[in-house]
Amino acid sequence: MASATFESVAPATGEVLGTFPRGDAADVDRAVATAREAFEDWRLVPAPERGNMLFRFAELLRAHKDELTDLMTREMGKVKAEAGGDVQEAIDMSFYMGGEGRRLFGHTTPSELRDKFMMSVRMPVGVVGAITPWNFPIAIPAWKLCPALVCGNTVVLKPAEDTPLLAARFVDLLHQAGVPEGVVQVVNGFGEEAGEALVRHPDVPVITFTGSRETGIAVTKAAADHLKHVHLELGGKNAIIVMDDADLELAVEGIVWSAFGTSGQRCTAASRVIVHEAVYGELQSKLVAAAERLRLGPGWDDETDVGPLINRAALDKVHSYTRVGLDEGAKLLTGGEPVEGAGFFYRPTVFADVSPRMRIAQEEIFGPTTALIPVRSFEEAVAAANSVEYGLSSSIFTRDVNRAFRAMRDLQAGITYVNAGTTGAEVHLPFGGVKATGNGHREAGQAALDVFTEWKSIYVDYSGKLQRAQIDNAERPAPR
Ligand code: ADP
Repeated sequence: MASATFESVAPATGEVLGTFPRGDAADVDRAVATAREAFEDWRLVPAPERGNMLFRFAELLRAHKDELTDLMTREMGKVKAEAGGDVQEAIDMSFYMGGEGRRLFGHTTPSELRDKFMMSVRMPVGVVGAITPWNFPIAIPAWKLCPALVCGNTVVLKPAEDTPLLAARFVDLLHQAGVPEGVVQVVNGFGEEAGEALVRHPDVPVITFTGSRETGIAVTKAAADHLKHVHLELGGKNAIIVMDDADLELAVEGIVWSAFGTSGQRCTAASRVIVHEAVYGELQSKLVAAAERLRLGPGWDDETDVGPLINRAALDKVHSYTRVGLDEGAKLLTGGEPVEGAGFFYRPTVFADVSPRMRIAQEEIFGPTTALIPVRSFEEAVAAANSVEYGLSSSIFTRDVNRAFRAMRDLQAGITYVNAGTTGAEVHLPFGGVKATGNGHREAGQAALDVFTEWKSIYVDYSGKLQRAQIDNAERPAPR
């Protein structure tokens, strides 16, 4: 085992919650060797039985929901309601993928020849390397591990260095649910050490990664030498469009929830609000009033609306973007500063008079900062929304059904909400984005199965003679 260690620190207080071995390439090697061996049995366990383990896992998550929720408010910092939602997503995903154990549908199709049967089936790929971030410390591992396992793969999980305690509880419960220890293992450690070793390991044919765009590119390059399946879920610069006919009260509620929920630390956070000029003034004052009503504090406190940022580096990054916005000439309406004292708290921040090309309108901040961009028309709004390199989530508030449908068609994003903010995905629809948000794969829903399986096409000839396909059969006599 690695002798070096690292600490898990509570972002609301700075308290050390635990010390963990800092895994290195040798630890990854050992885990992968075990996972590879375990795969030979696991792939033969009937999928409904694997699914039953996920049902048990969902029940265990449910039984431990309060404990996990409380731990999440401490280790990751999000507020209770959101932490409970994070655990609930894992419960939902586990039930959903448990049911997949009795589906995992393939296809059958008629052959062009007589007495021949054809089908396609999903095959597991092998050892999956799952690399996860800290912002959904229970939900994201579930999004990755539940489909990977039900499909018959084994997994080595490299969780984020900020949330090792939650990852440990997550995997403990999987083992309690009956998933053999060799089938799911954790290697804690840093991205450039344990993470990269996993990505480069020749016996790990699938990497599923959620994190920053820069790391996603590094992962893709490192995985290229072995031509791995790489599933990436990267950043966002998501916009809410508010049209002149919107229900403004509803829009403000949606913006507050999507921009400041989880302190803006969600890849689907609304860090841009594109507003029709006819309602720009009114929306500003309503939004600022709502942002200033939010109470900051530790996530475990029932009174808290917004928790801390994850760590000091995150706080510094968010604050540096406030300076960028001011330098670019945007107007700071509220917030824009850290809170004095212990913990990594940053005030909900709203910039107005932002133009779509400014850096605060282009780059992912991952904090409680949102930028108001005034526009004159629907067309201008869509163009502004699409002017970023990312394409994860999008939203429009309008009562005009024609505009709503045009937005659904024209917004360049993997997800579009109508009359809701940019957050709130459910587990049974695909989750992911276009452009620099990913590389064409999706998490959740049926789409997730594509990451964790290979299609196999099977031809069964029961004619008793050699029938030849893929040759020119045109001269075959027409059937009578
Ligand atoms: P964030 O900014 O959200 O921390 P990162 O992309 O840095 O996003 O981290 C997401 C996950 O990727 C973490 O588990 C981290 O340890 C891991 N990671 C970071 N760098 C690498 C790397 N070079 N190779 C593999 N994993 C990495």
